Amino acid sequence: MSSTPAGPNPHLVARMQGHRLSIFGEMSALAVETGAINLGQGFPDTDGPPEVTAAAVQAIRDGFNQYPPDRGIPELRQAVADHQRRFYGLEVDADDVMVSTGASEALGAAVMALVEPGQEVVVFEPYFDLYAAVIELAGGVRRAVTLRAPDYSFDPDELEAAVGPDTRLLMLNTPHNPTGKVFDRAELETVARVAIEHDLVVVTDEVYEHMTFDGTVHVPLASLPGMAERTVTISSGGKSFGLTGWKVGWAHAPGELIRAVHTVKQHLSFTSGAPFQRAMVTALNLGDDYFTGLADDLRAKRDLVSAGLASAGLDVYPASGTYYVTADVRPLGYDDGMDFCRDLPGRCGVVAVPNRVFYDDADAGRTIVRFATCKRFEVLDEAMDRLSGLAG
Ligand SMILES: *Cc1c(COP(=O)(O)O)cnc(C)c1O
Repeated sequence: MSSTPAGPNPHLVARMQGHRLSIFGEMSALAVETGAINLGQGFPDTDGPPEVTAAAVQAIRDGFNQYPPDRGIPELRQAVADHQRRFYGLEVDADDVMVSTGASEALGAAVMALVEPGQEVVVFEPYFDLYAAVIELAGGVRRAVTLRAPDYSFDPDELEAAVGPDTRLLMLNTPHNPTGKVFDRAELETVARVAIEHDLVVVTDEVYEHMTFDGTVHVPLASLPGMAERTVTISSGGKSFGLTGWKVGWAHAPGELIRAVHTVKQHLSFTSGAPFQRAMVTALNLGDDYFTGLADDLRAKRDLVSAGLASAGLDVYPASGTYYVTADVRPLGYDDGMDFCRDLPGRCGVVAVPNRVFYDDADAGRTIVRFATCKRFEVLDEAMDRLSGLAG
Protein backbone atom coordinates (compact mmCIF):
# COMPACT_ATOMS: atom_id res chain seq x y z
CA MET A 1 0.00 0.00 0.00
CA SER A 2 1.64 3.28 -1.07
CA SER A 3 0.79 6.49 0.65
CA THR A 4 -0.75 9.38 -1.25
CA PRO A 5 1.57 12.38 -1.57
CA ALA A 6 0.26 15.83 -0.80
CA GLY A 7 -0.82 18.03 -3.71
CA PRO A 8 -2.81 17.26 -6.83
CA ASN A 9 -1.97 14.38 -9.17
CA PRO A 10 -1.29 15.92 -12.62
CA HIS A 11 -2.72 12.89 -14.43
CA LEU A 12 -5.99 12.70 -12.57
CA VAL A 13 -9.20 14.40 -13.69
CA ALA A 14 -10.12 17.39 -11.55
CA ARG A 15 -13.31 15.88 -10.19
CA MET A 16 -11.41 12.98 -8.61
CA GLN A 17 -8.57 15.00 -7.03
CA GLY A 18 -10.43 15.20 -3.75
CA HIS A 19 -10.99 11.44 -3.64
CA ARG A 20 -7.46 10.07 -3.75
CA LEU A 21 -7.08 9.34 -0.10
CA SER A 22 -9.18 6.46 1.18
CA ILE A 23 -9.13 6.67 4.95
CA PHE A 24 -9.38 2.87 5.09
CA GLY A 25 -6.16 2.54 3.08
CA GLU A 26 -4.34 5.03 5.29
CA MET A 27 -5.47 3.50 8.57
CA SER A 28 -4.93 -0.12 7.44
CA ALA A 29 -1.39 0.80 6.35
CA LEU A 30 -0.83 2.33 9.77
CA ALA A 31 -2.04 -0.91 11.37
CA VAL A 32 0.42 -2.96 9.30
CA GLU A 33 3.33 -0.57 10.01
CA THR A 34 2.76 -0.52 13.75
CA GLY A 35 1.48 -4.07 14.24
CA ALA A 36 -1.67 -2.63 15.80
CA ILE A 37 -5.02 -4.43 15.98
CA ASN A 38 -7.01 -3.13 13.03
CA LEU A 39 -10.50 -2.12 14.10
CA GLY A 40 -10.50 0.41 11.26
CA GLN A 41 -11.57 -1.33 8.09
CA GLY A 42 -14.76 -3.42 8.34
CA PHE A 43 -13.97 -6.96 7.32
CA PRO A 44 -14.30 -10.08 9.49
CA ASP A 45 -11.25 -12.10 10.53
CA THR A 46 -13.01 -15.44 9.99
CA ASP A 47 -14.49 -16.79 6.77
CA GLY A 48 -18.14 -17.40 6.02
CA PRO A 49 -20.10 -20.65 6.43
CA PRO A 50 -18.11 -23.74 5.30
CA GLU A 51 -20.98 -25.07 3.16
CA VAL A 52 -20.84 -21.82 1.19
CA THR A 53 -17.07 -21.83 0.64
CA ALA A 54 -17.34 -25.55 -0.26
CA ALA A 55 -20.00 -24.70 -2.84
CA ALA A 56 -17.59 -22.27 -4.53
CA VAL A 57 -14.83 -24.90 -4.65
CA GLN A 58 -17.32 -27.38 -6.08
CA ALA A 59 -18.49 -24.86 -8.69
CA ILE A 60 -14.90 -24.36 -9.88
CA ARG A 61 -14.43 -28.14 -10.11
CA ASP A 62 -17.76 -28.46 -11.93
CA GLY A 63 -16.55 -26.10 -14.63
CA PHE A 64 -18.38 -22.85 -13.84
CA ASN A 65 -15.36 -20.80 -14.85
CA GLN A 66 -16.36 -18.83 -17.94
CA TYR A 67 -18.35 -15.60 -18.26
CA PRO A 68 -21.70 -15.97 -16.59
CA PRO A 69 -24.70 -14.17 -18.17
CA ASP A 70 -24.33 -10.38 -18.03
CA ARG A 71 -27.21 -9.93 -15.58
CA GLY A 72 -26.08 -12.83 -13.41
CA ILE A 73 -26.87 -16.54 -13.37
CA PRO A 74 -30.64 -17.21 -13.31
CA GLU A 75 -30.35 -19.31 -10.12
CA LEU A 76 -28.85 -16.39 -8.20
CA ARG A 77 -31.35 -13.86 -9.53
CA GLN A 78 -34.11 -16.22 -8.40
CA ALA A 79 -32.41 -16.71 -5.01
CA VAL A 80 -32.33 -12.92 -4.49
CA ALA A 81 -36.03 -12.68 -5.37
CA ASP A 82 -36.80 -15.57 -2.97
CA HIS A 83 -34.73 -13.90 -0.23
CA GLN A 84 -36.70 -10.65 -0.58
CA ARG A 85 -39.99 -12.51 -0.22
CA ARG A 86 -38.77 -14.67 2.65
CA PHE A 87 -37.40 -11.86 4.82
CA TYR A 88 -39.51 -8.84 3.82
CA GLY A 89 -42.58 -10.09 1.95
CA LEU A 90 -41.37 -8.17 -1.11
CA GLU A 91 -42.53 -9.53 -4.46
CA VAL A 92 -39.58 -9.20 -6.82
CA ASP A 93 -39.46 -10.67 -10.32
CA ALA A 94 -36.16 -12.51 -10.91
CA ASP A 95 -36.06 -10.71 -14.26
CA ASP A 96 -35.76 -7.44 -12.36
CA VAL A 97 -32.66 -8.60 -10.44
CA MET A 98 -29.16 -7.74 -11.65
CA VAL A 99 -26.03 -9.35 -10.19
CA SER A 100 -23.05 -7.01 -9.77
CA THR A 101 -19.43 -7.00 -8.66
CA GLY A 102 -20.29 -6.29 -5.05
CA ALA A 103 -22.77 -3.68 -3.92
CA SER A 104 -20.08 -1.16 -4.90
CA GLU A 105 -20.48 -1.69 -8.62
CA ALA A 106 -24.26 -1.56 -8.44
CA LEU A 107 -24.06 1.73 -6.49
CA GLY A 108 -21.68 3.23 -9.04
CA ALA A 109 -23.70 2.00 -12.01
CA ALA A 110 -26.95 3.30 -10.50
CA VAL A 111 -25.59 6.81 -9.95
CA MET A 112 -23.98 6.96 -13.41
CA ALA A 113 -27.12 5.63 -15.06
CA LEU A 114 -29.58 7.92 -13.31
CA VAL A 115 -27.83 11.26 -12.70
CA GLU A 116 -27.19 13.83 -15.45
CA PRO A 117 -24.24 16.22 -15.00
CA GLY A 118 -25.34 19.08 -12.75
CA GLN A 119 -28.20 17.17 -11.13
CA GLU A 120 -28.26 16.87 -7.37
CA VAL A 121 -28.06 13.79 -5.18
CA VAL A 122 -29.18 13.93 -1.55
CA VAL A 123 -27.23 11.75 0.87
CA PHE A 124 -27.28 11.39 4.63
CA GLU A 125 -23.98 12.19 6.30
CA PRO A 126 -21.81 10.59 7.53
CA TYR A 127 -21.86 8.79 4.17
CA PHE A 128 -19.89 5.84 2.78
CA ASP A 129 -17.00 7.45 0.91
CA LEU A 130 -17.79 5.64 -2.36
CA TYR A 131 -21.04 7.63 -2.67
CA ALA A 132 -19.21 10.94 -2.81
CA ALA A 133 -16.75 9.65 -5.40
CA VAL A 134 -19.32 8.15 -7.78
CA ILE A 135 -21.57 11.20 -7.56
CA GLU A 136 -18.64 13.35 -8.67
CA LEU A 137 -17.64 10.88 -11.39
CA ALA A 138 -21.18 11.21 -12.75
CA GLY A 139 -20.89 15.01 -12.64
CA GLY A 140 -23.58 15.18 -9.97
CA VAL A 141 -23.75 17.54 -7.02
CA ARG A 142 -23.96 16.18 -3.47
CA ARG A 143 -26.36 17.62 -0.88
CA ALA A 144 -25.85 16.19 2.60
CA VAL A 145 -28.38 15.90 5.40
CA THR A 146 -26.69 15.41 8.75
CA LEU A 147 -27.46 12.51 11.07
CA ARG A 148 -26.82 13.93 14.54
CA ALA A 149 -25.39 12.04 17.52
CA PRO A 150 -26.21 10.56 19.95
CA ASP A 151 -29.06 8.77 18.10
CA TYR A 152 -28.09 9.93 14.60
CA SER A 153 -31.58 11.16 13.84
CA PHE A 154 -32.23 13.74 11.14
CA ASP A 155 -34.44 16.79 10.98
CA PRO A 156 -37.19 16.23 8.36
CA ASP A 157 -37.07 19.96 7.56
CA GLU A 158 -33.38 19.62 6.72
CA LEU A 159 -34.23 16.80 4.34
CA GLU A 160 -36.95 18.91 2.70
CA ALA A 161 -34.58 21.84 2.41
CA ALA A 162 -31.90 19.70 0.74
CA VAL A 163 -34.26 18.80 -2.09
CA GLY A 164 -34.57 21.32 -4.91
CA PRO A 165 -35.66 21.52 -8.56
CA ASP A 166 -32.43 19.85 -9.73
CA THR A 167 -32.57 16.93 -7.31
CA ARG A 168 -32.70 13.61 -9.09
CA LEU A 169 -31.71 10.99 -6.57
CA LEU A 170 -31.68 10.23 -2.89
CA MET A 171 -29.25 7.67 -1.45
CA LEU A 172 -30.14 5.78 1.72
CA ASN A 173 -27.95 3.35 3.63
CA THR A 174 -29.69 1.34 6.34
CA PRO A 175 -28.49 -0.31 8.55
CA HIS A 176 -26.02 2.56 8.39
CA ASN A 177 -22.26 2.56 8.11
CA PRO A 178 -20.47 4.20 9.95
CA THR A 179 -22.98 4.95 12.72
CA GLY A 180 -24.68 1.60 13.37
CA LYS A 181 -28.03 3.37 13.07
CA VAL A 182 -31.04 1.46 11.73
CA PHE A 183 -33.60 3.81 10.19
CA ASP A 184 -36.97 3.18 11.82
CA ARG A 185 -40.29 3.03 10.03
CA ALA A 186 -41.24 6.63 10.83
CA GLU A 187 -37.95 7.90 9.40
CA LEU A 188 -38.38 5.77 6.30
CA GLU A 189 -41.89 7.14 5.88
CA THR A 190 -40.43 10.65 5.91
CA VAL A 191 -37.90 9.67 3.26
CA ALA A 192 -40.65 8.04 1.19
CA ARG A 193 -42.93 11.08 1.47
CA VAL A 194 -40.17 13.42 0.27
CA ALA A 195 -39.22 11.08 -2.57
CA ILE A 196 -42.81 10.79 -3.78
CA GLU A 197 -43.55 14.52 -3.42
CA HIS A 198 -40.51 15.46 -5.48
CA ASP A 199 -40.62 12.47 -7.82
CA LEU A 200 -37.14 11.24 -6.85
CA VAL A 201 -35.56 7.86 -7.37
CA VAL A 202 -34.02 6.38 -4.22
CA VAL A 203 -30.96 4.14 -4.30
CA THR A 204 -30.77 2.07 -1.13
CA ASP A 205 -27.68 0.34 0.24
CA GLU A 206 -28.76 -2.54 2.46
CA VAL A 207 -25.53 -4.54 2.77
CA TYR A 208 -25.95 -4.77 6.58
CA GLU A 209 -29.57 -5.96 6.30
CA HIS A 210 -29.01 -9.05 8.46
CA MET A 211 -27.27 -7.22 11.28
CA THR A 212 -29.83 -5.65 13.58
CA PHE A 213 -30.08 -6.02 17.36
CA ASP A 214 -32.40 -5.65 20.36
CA GLY A 215 -35.59 -6.31 18.41
CA THR A 216 -34.78 -3.64 15.81
CA VAL A 217 -35.78 -4.79 12.33
CA HIS A 218 -34.50 -3.82 8.92
CA VAL A 219 -37.24 -2.40 6.71
CA PRO A 220 -36.41 -2.13 3.01
CA LEU A 221 -37.58 1.24 1.68
CA ALA A 222 -39.06 -0.57 -1.34
CA SER A 223 -41.61 -2.21 0.97
CA LEU A 224 -43.28 1.14 1.78
CA PRO A 225 -46.37 2.16 -0.21
CA GLY A 226 -45.52 3.81 -3.52
CA MET A 227 -41.79 3.14 -3.17
CA ALA A 228 -41.13 -0.11 -5.06
CA GLU A 229 -41.51 1.64 -8.41
CA ARG A 230 -38.96 4.36 -7.54
CA THR A 231 -36.38 2.42 -5.51
CA VAL A 232 -33.22 0.68 -6.64
CA THR A 233 -32.54 -1.79 -3.83
CA ILE A 234 -28.89 -2.82 -3.53
CA SER A 235 -27.22 -5.40 -1.31
CA SER A 236 -24.47 -8.00 -1.41
CA GLY A 237 -23.26 -11.19 0.21
CA GLY A 238 -19.95 -9.81 1.44
CA LYS A 239 -21.12 -8.57 4.82
CA SER A 240 -24.00 -11.01 5.37
CA PHE A 241 -21.89 -14.11 4.86
CA GLY A 242 -18.42 -12.99 5.94
CA LEU A 243 -17.14 -13.18 2.36
CA THR A 244 -16.11 -9.60 1.60
CA GLY A 245 -13.46 -10.70 -0.89
CA TRP A 246 -15.95 -12.43 -3.17
CA LYS A 247 -17.65 -9.24 -4.31
CA VAL A 248 -21.00 -10.72 -5.26
CA GLY A 249 -23.69 -8.06 -5.06
CA TRP A 250 -27.07 -7.40 -6.60
CA ALA A 251 -29.68 -4.78 -7.31
CA HIS A 252 -33.37 -4.92 -8.06
CA ALA A 253 -35.86 -2.38 -9.32
CA PRO A 254 -38.84 -2.70 -11.62
CA GLY A 255 -38.53 -2.84 -15.41
CA GLU A 256 -36.89 0.13 -17.09
CA LEU A 257 -35.29 1.34 -13.85
CA ILE A 258 -33.09 -1.74 -13.36
CA ARG A 259 -32.47 -1.90 -17.12
CA ALA A 260 -31.06 1.63 -16.97
CA VAL A 261 -28.67 0.57 -14.21
CA HIS A 262 -27.75 -2.58 -16.10
CA THR A 263 -26.91 -0.60 -19.23
CA VAL A 264 -24.07 1.07 -17.33
CA LYS A 265 -23.10 -2.04 -15.35
CA GLN A 266 -22.56 -4.11 -18.50
CA HIS A 267 -19.89 -1.63 -19.62
CA LEU A 268 -18.10 -1.61 -16.27
CA SER A 269 -17.36 -5.25 -15.42
CA PHE A 270 -19.81 -6.87 -17.87
CA THR A 271 -19.94 -9.80 -15.46
CA SER A 272 -17.87 -11.43 -12.71
CA GLY A 273 -17.35 -14.25 -10.25
CA ALA A 274 -19.06 -17.23 -11.95
CA PRO A 275 -18.28 -19.83 -9.22
CA PHE A 276 -18.99 -17.32 -6.45
CA GLN A 277 -22.38 -16.54 -7.96
CA ARG A 278 -23.26 -20.24 -7.73
CA ALA A 279 -22.08 -20.44 -4.12
CA MET A 280 -24.09 -17.34 -3.22
CA VAL A 281 -27.26 -19.28 -4.08
CA THR A 282 -26.35 -21.68 -1.28
CA ALA A 283 -25.68 -18.72 1.04
CA LEU A 284 -28.98 -16.94 0.42
CA ASN A 285 -30.86 -20.19 1.04
CA LEU A 286 -29.20 -20.90 4.42
CA GLY A 287 -31.61 -21.66 7.27
CA ASP A 288 -32.91 -19.05 9.69
CA ASP A 289 -30.46 -20.26 12.34
CA TYR A 290 -27.57 -18.88 10.28
CA PHE A 291 -29.10 -15.41 10.14
CA THR A 292 -30.12 -15.29 13.81
CA GLY A 293 -26.69 -16.64 14.77
CA LEU A 294 -24.98 -13.87 12.82
CA ALA A 295 -27.01 -11.16 14.56
CA ASP A 296 -26.53 -12.75 18.02
CA ASP A 297 -22.77 -12.96 17.52
CA LEU A 298 -22.52 -9.33 16.43
CA ARG A 299 -24.79 -8.10 19.21
CA ALA A 300 -22.48 -9.72 21.75
CA LYS A 301 -19.48 -8.12 20.03
CA ARG A 302 -21.17 -4.72 19.98
CA ASP A 303 -21.80 -5.09 23.73
CA LEU A 304 -18.19 -6.05 24.38
CA VAL A 305 -16.76 -3.17 22.34
CA SER A 306 -19.26 -0.59 23.63
CA ALA A 307 -18.44 -1.51 27.23
CA GLY A 308 -14.71 -1.55 26.53
CA LEU A 309 -14.75 1.87 24.89
CA ALA A 310 -16.84 3.31 27.71
CA SER A 311 -14.44 2.05 30.36
CA ALA A 312 -11.54 3.45 28.32
CA GLY A 313 -13.23 6.82 28.82
CA LEU A 314 -14.88 7.42 25.44
CA ASP A 315 -18.43 8.67 25.08
CA VAL A 316 -20.04 5.72 23.26
CA TYR A 317 -23.09 6.14 21.03
CA PRO A 318 -25.71 3.39 20.83
CA ALA A 319 -25.62 1.15 17.73
CA SER A 320 -28.59 -1.03 16.84
CA GLY A 321 -27.13 -2.55 13.69
CA THR A 322 -24.07 -3.21 11.49
CA TYR A 323 -20.66 -4.18 12.87
CA TYR A 324 -19.51 -0.73 13.93
CA VAL A 325 -19.60 1.28 17.11
CA THR A 326 -19.00 5.04 17.16
CA ALA A 327 -17.73 7.11 20.05
CA ASP A 328 -16.76 10.67 20.87
CA VAL A 329 -13.12 11.28 21.82
CA ARG A 330 -13.57 14.58 23.68
CA PRO A 331 -13.60 13.01 27.15
CA LEU A 332 -10.03 11.86 26.44
CA GLY A 333 -8.89 15.40 25.76
CA TYR A 334 -9.00 15.33 21.95
CA ASP A 335 -11.03 17.75 19.89
CA ASP A 336 -10.30 16.04 16.57
CA GLY A 337 -10.91 12.35 15.83
CA MET A 338 -8.21 12.40 13.14
CA ASP A 339 -5.55 13.29 15.73
CA PHE A 340 -6.90 10.60 18.02
CA CYS A 341 -6.78 7.94 15.28
CA ARG A 342 -3.25 8.91 14.24
CA ASP A 343 -2.08 8.71 17.88
CA LEU A 344 -3.94 5.54 18.82
CA PRO A 345 -1.64 2.87 17.28
CA GLY A 346 1.38 4.41 19.00
CA ARG A 347 -0.39 4.96 22.30
CA CYS A 348 -1.97 1.53 22.63
CA GLY A 349 -1.73 -0.59 19.47
CA VAL A 350 -5.26 -0.22 18.10
CA VAL A 351 -6.50 1.34 14.87
CA ALA A 352 -9.86 3.13 14.44
CA VAL A 353 -11.27 5.40 11.74
CA PRO A 354 -12.11 9.12 12.12
CA ASN A 355 -15.67 9.82 10.98
CA ARG A 356 -14.99 13.44 10.01
CA VAL A 357 -13.97 12.27 6.53
CA PHE A 358 -17.53 11.03 5.96
CA TYR A 359 -19.09 14.47 6.43
CA ASP A 360 -19.36 17.65 4.36
CA ASP A 361 -20.03 19.49 7.61
CA ALA A 362 -16.66 18.64 9.18
CA ASP A 363 -17.75 20.05 12.55
CA ALA A 364 -20.63 17.60 12.84
CA GLY A 365 -18.30 14.58 12.85
CA ARG A 366 -15.03 16.13 13.99
CA THR A 367 -14.77 14.35 17.33
CA ILE A 368 -16.37 11.01 16.40
CA VAL A 369 -14.45 7.83 15.60
CA ARG A 370 -15.55 4.38 14.44
CA PHE A 371 -14.47 0.95 15.67
CA ALA A 372 -15.26 -2.27 13.75
CA THR A 373 -16.59 -5.10 15.92
CA CYS A 374 -16.44 -7.92 13.34
CA LYS A 375 -13.38 -9.66 14.79
CA ARG A 376 -12.93 -12.79 16.90
CA PHE A 377 -13.77 -12.39 20.60
CA GLU A 378 -10.16 -12.92 21.66
CA VAL A 379 -9.02 -10.16 19.29
CA LEU A 380 -11.66 -7.76 20.61
CA ASP A 381 -10.77 -8.67 24.22
CA GLU A 382 -7.12 -7.89 23.53
CA ALA A 383 -8.03 -4.61 21.80
CA MET A 384 -10.23 -3.51 24.72
CA ASP A 385 -7.48 -4.46 27.13
CA ARG A 386 -5.04 -2.25 25.25
CA LEU A 387 -7.53 0.63 25.11
CA SER A 388 -8.12 0.46 28.86
CA GLY A 389 -4.74 2.16 29.26
CA LEU A 390 -6.16 5.38 27.82
CA ALA A 391 -8.42 6.00 30.79
CA GLY A 392 -5.51 6.43 33.22
C1 LIG B 1 -18.97 -2.68 2.55
C2 LIG B 1 -19.95 -1.70 2.05
C3 LIG B 1 -20.29 -1.65 0.69
C4 LIG B 1 -19.58 -2.45 -0.35
O1 LIG B 1 -20.10 -3.69 -0.52
P1 LIG B 1 -19.39 -4.72 -1.54
O2 LIG B 1 -20.39 -5.78 -1.71
O3 LIG B 1 -18.13 -5.17 -0.87
O4 LIG B 1 -19.08 -3.96 -2.78
C5 LIG B 1 -21.29 -0.77 0.31
N1 LIG B 1 -21.90 0.03 1.18
C6 LIG B 1 -21.58 0.03 2.49
C7 LIG B 1 -22.29 0.95 3.42
C8 LIG B 1 -20.58 -0.82 2.97
O5 LIG B 1 -20.23 -0.78 4.25
